[in-house]
Amino acid sequence: MSIQRLRGTADILPDEAPLWRRIESAARREARLYGCREIRTPVFERTELFSRSVGETTDIVSREMYTFPDRGGRSVTLRPEGTAPVVRAYLENALHRTAREARLYYLGPIFRYEKPQAGRQRQHHQFGVEAFGDGGPAIDAEVIELLMRFYEELGMRDLSLLVNTVGCAACRPAFNGRLAAFLASRRPDICEDCRRRSDGNPLRVFDCKSAGCAAVIAEAPRAIESVCPACRVHFDGLRALLDEAGIAHTVRPELVRGIDYYTRTAFEVLAGGLGAQNAVGGGGRYDDLVESLGGPPTPAVGFGTGIERIVMVMAAQGIAAPPPDGAVVSVIAWEPEGIAAGRRALRSLRGAGIPAEMDHRGGSLRSQLRRAHRAAAAYALLVGAAECARGAARLKDMRTGEEREVPLEGIGAAMGRLAPAENRTGVPGGRRPS
Ligand SMILES: [Zn+2]
Ligand SMILES: [Zn+2]
Repeated sequence: MSIQRLRGTADILPDEAPLWRRIESAARREARLYGCREIRTPVFERTELFSRSVGETTDIVSREMYTFPDRGGRSVTLRPEGTAPVVRAYLENALHRTAREARLYYLGPIFRYEKPQAGRQRQHHQFGVEAFGDGGPAIDAEVIELLMRFYEELGMRDLSLLVNTVGCAACRPAFNGRLAAFLASRRPDICEDCRRRSDGNPLRVFDCKSAGCAAVIAEAPRAIESVCPACRVHFDGLRALLDEAGIAHTVRPELVRGIDYYTRTAFEVLAGGLGAQNAVGGGGRYDDLVESLGGPPTPAVGFGTGIERIVMVMAAQGIAAPPPDGAVVSVIAWEPEGIAAGRRALRSLRGAGIPAEMDHRGGSLRSQLRRAHRAAAAYALLVGAAECARGAARLKDMRTGEEREVPLEGIGAAMGRLAPAENRTGVPGGRRPS
């Protein structure tokens, strides 16, 4: 029996890759427009980076991490989220010394041992932004605007932005006390997980997916009702700035996001077409994380958005994927002189930046033309000994079937004038989809 991929992983096949590239290009373009610079961190880290930052009582750390001892006996973990590694790198490389106000972005895989479902893989891919050094609401609004613009650039519609405030180090302890007292009064009605959460970090009960707990949690106090005046000012400021930017949003008091390090702002974007799992991205402020990982006090805010989810939304919303990658010109050659001339033409075309291919196995003219059709080539360049003797080839437009003779000399440059640039490599060149 042949070996199959692991559950919760996926192959991104050649036909799908152009859409992934479009999404990644849009991510890079938008991030750059907002002054973010790229950072690439390792896919594995010391386990304690996540247990200390994401939180021991979170679902991520308590049951979803790929953690194992390496051959040197260290406990390592495949990154289950993108923020903690970026914070570690920001500190370790002293980026905070050169630029306290640093804006970074990343693209890459994230690993979580979850029950696989549509749009939720054990290895999934994420685009994330982290902005360090600014504690005000304007940067929160800008980070959210970047995320919304990115989705819109991809043509996504039917998006709703949910926002909330989860308080800060000053007001969270008092709120946690109130929430824990409420949960203690309802202890018989909540699940085993929520009892454990209510002892450790009661805010985590808002992550519970059990139907029995939902009724209890609906009556639980909300952080937004008891945040301190500074948190209130920050939240009102953010909402006013979102209004100013024309970004519609809804306050969702039960939104906490499944990670401990969030302070003040938490947000999530839902998209039509995803069904029950309709969050396509989200993030929040994490003003204490840099300090808790050993750095100077540094406020920060960021988001992460899953590429698989975006692919699902785009498919559900009928957004056309880019055309598959393929050769623009298929060179079809026969007889020794023609075949040698065909190889020279290939080099000339590629030298001019035109994707070109030739079937070196040869075969009949008809079978080679069939292959060019299957490869969705725009043109076939036909050259045999007779054409070669005239220093020419026949250029066939595969769409119309029209044929004309063209000089072999300088064929790359000539075709370069004929084939529109965006057809050559299938890589979007900064054009926005209409
Ligand atoms: Zn506060
Ligand atoms: Zn529960």
